[in-house]
Amino acid sequence: MSPAPLLRAGLLATAGLGAGLLLGGRPRSGLLALAAAHATFCATAAAPNHALTGPLIRRFTPRDRELWLTLDDGPDPAATPAILDVLERHRARATFLLIGKRAARHPDLVRAITAAGHEIGNHSHTHPAATFWTAGPARLAREIDDAQRAIHAAAGITPAFFRPPVGMANLFLDPLLRARGLRRLGWSVRAFDTRPQDPAALLDRLTAACYPGAIVLLHERGATAGTAILDAFLTRLRRAEFRVTLPAEAQLLVDSLA
Ligand SMILES: [Zn+2]
Repeated sequence: MSPAPLLRAGLLATAGLGAGLLLGGRPRSGLLALAAAHATFCATAAAPNHALTGPLIRRFTPRDRELWLTLDDGPDPAATPAILDVLERHRARATFLLIGKRAARHPDLVRAITAAGHEIGNHSHTHPAATFWTAGPARLAREIDDAQRAIHAAAGITPAFFRPPVGMANLFLDPLLRARGLRRLGWSVRAFDTRPQDPAALLDRLTAACYPGAIVLLHERGATAGTAILDAFLTRLRRAEFRVTLPAEAQLLVDSLA
């Protein structure tokens, strides 16, 4: 049995034990057991980019100096067209993790992304960053399915990857993804580019962290210097002889435990 179902079963057992003790007149032990179940749920959900709750792709096997660029939170009329230009100029291919609601609002941008040879993944329908990890199965399913539908309606494609808002997954997510043939996509390198910071320092840190087989996470609308950062980053990668590309299926490495 893989760790996620075991964890789920343990969690339910602990919560059940807690409820039983509570109802059976042993409130202190009952509360302790419930607290343990609650703490486990929070610990596995609140830490981003981990494989405790189910399989996760965080890197791939490079054929040469390959790097996988992933761009979150689009499409965005103020960012996507400029990003597509920059990528084209650098002959780079990327995966765009789209928010379903935005895809529904800007179907032309979704089509422009695929027409340029890039890949599209599902990044939830409404991007509830603060509450996604606390959601139950019904709400998670809605977030996944509504985004799949919006992306399909816009560009006629069905994403194969799902990245939770801010990377936080909980124990309910994995079975839902599995049932839909979706894989959870994490990252190897990120730069917290949604926080304002010194562009030169961000660029140095980001470039230094890259290695062949890494998955880089950036946002379509980073807080710092817009697409200039992406342009400069791709220039540096080229100088370091990286190839920014979409890995083939056989190259993906799936981690099943953090
Ligand atoms: Zn996001």
